[in-house]
Amino acid sequence: MARIAYLECTKCGQQISADQPQTVCPKDGGVLYVRYDLQALKPTFTAASLFGRTPSMWRYAEVLPEAEPVTLGEGFTPMLPSREYPSVYIKEEGLNPTGSFKARGMSAAVTMAKAYGLKKLAAPSAGNAASALAAYCAAAELEAHIFMPKDAPLANRVECESYGAHVTLVDGLISDCARMVGENKEKEGWFDVSTLKEPFRVEGKKTMGYEVAEQLGWQMPQGIIYPTGGGVGLIGMWKAFDEMQQLGWIGPERPQMVAVQASGCAPVAKAWDEGRNHTQFWPNASTLAAGLRVPKAYGDYLILDILKKSGGVALAVTDEEIMNALRHWARVEGIFAAPEGAAVLAAYRKLRASEFFGADDAVVLFNTGSGLKYLDVIDAQKKQAEPQQPASRQIAGIIGPY
Ligand SMILES: [Zn+2]
Repeated sequence: MARIAYLECTKCGQQISADQPQTVCPKDGGVLYVRYDLQALKPTFTAASLFGRTPSMWRYAEVLPEAEPVTLGEGFTPMLPSREYPSVYIKEEGLNPTGSFKARGMSAAVTMAKAYGLKKLAAPSAGNAASALAAYCAAAELEAHIFMPKDAPLANRVECESYGAHVTLVDGLISDCARMVGENKEKEGWFDVSTLKEPFRVEGKKTMGYEVAEQLGWQMPQGIIYPTGGGVGLIGMWKAFDEMQQLGWIGPERPQMVAVQASGCAPVAKAWDEGRNHTQFWPNASTLAAGLRVPKAYGDYLILDILKKSGGVALAVTDEEIMNALRHWARVEGIFAAPEGAAVLAAYRKLRASEFFGADDAVVLFNTGSGLKYLDVIDAQKKQAEPQQPASRQIAGIIGPY
């Protein structure tokens, strides 16, 4: 692990060695960031040096852990110009392995787990992180122990089982799943790769920030809109911008970071509106966007700080607005988004209406996953929204389904 200088606590600044597997700061439970000697990298790791490299997140190898990557081709996803809004780009994360941005974080986390010699990894997940963990564990020949709510989208459960993961369905929320991982990990010898409870998922997800900059020709957009459950994507991108500035790839300019939540589970939007720097646990969290059903994010203090520093905002959209946006995106852009991604379009419309963003502002909308992961959810929603059609009708004496 020569390339990692140390791990740094985001709360107290304590420096911790990365020679052994670490979770969170032992003093205050703060999230640990991986720090590299960027000044030493600066002369050779230039933007121009990326030319011709592998089109995956591992093209940024110098700012990722130095270990043999466990890779399935994650990252370097398309940055599509919107057909509807000339200044908007859609970052299409649905094309990642296992159909979501979660592949990036799990590729990095499983790479390091394997390098450390860990054998059994465990995580609670609302769905997509579970699939990603299961796939990368299969590729790395490690055991995956997954706890997901029993109402998680069907695709994720089927995927996890196919990858050979140990799946426990929980009658509760992701917070209940997290508690079960916590209660069993010591006894079972699991390493907990929960969101922000180990330092490397952020490292994988930060590559989205590198890609935004590279794919837009090293020009920062005016805004980035991101669906925010655990918030690691937002946190990772912000870390990437800081690293890129130290490397001399970009200046001090930053996009306005926007966190989108569902109105049935909006702890970050509520804390933002109330001017607080921590969230409160959101009771009875409910939304069809499974990835946004996170009642309290471990890194809430980091998310709220980034929103403030970037001049951004947090807002919530309803499930109805999400479903309308999902259908609209599919028909107008040819993009079948996950509900979490569709929430971003719903948010963009609101921010245009309120003139937070103007028509000429370059804004990147993140579709974090493929709608194909949510066929059961989307189909059920469609049936609920539409008036019931008769299952069969009679024409000229022939009875049959049409
Ligand atoms: Zn600390």
